[in-house]
Amino acid sequence: MGFYSSVNIPVRCPFCGTVEERECQTKDLKHFFLMDVWRKGDNILADFPKELQCVASCAQPSCGTMKMINGRSYVQERHFTVLVKLGNGVITGEYEAFENDPE
Ligand SMILES: [Zn+2]
Repeated sequence: MGFYSSVNIPVRCPFCGTVEERECQTKDLKHFFLMDVWRKGDNILADFPKELQCVASCAQPSCGTMKMINGRSYVQERHFTVLVKLGNGVITGEYEAFENDPE
């Protein structure tokens, strides 16, 4: 368990290109707001850097990795890094997504 906050905005998966609203988890806000959910247009009311480093995942079957556990298969979601852009403390909806695996 980490002390994550979430920014929920539409993000294009850097692997498969699917755009959907994703939960982008960040620790950058942990000292201020525990387990909170933020959306485009929200003002985080703090003097912050220009971006939040987040981790998001893609649940598309074509994107995940098939795993077998106890004879049952499931799709392990693929994770990637998202930098959520801020403008004067407001979540702009702009972002950069990177093809890396934060784990
Ligand atoms: Zn994907």
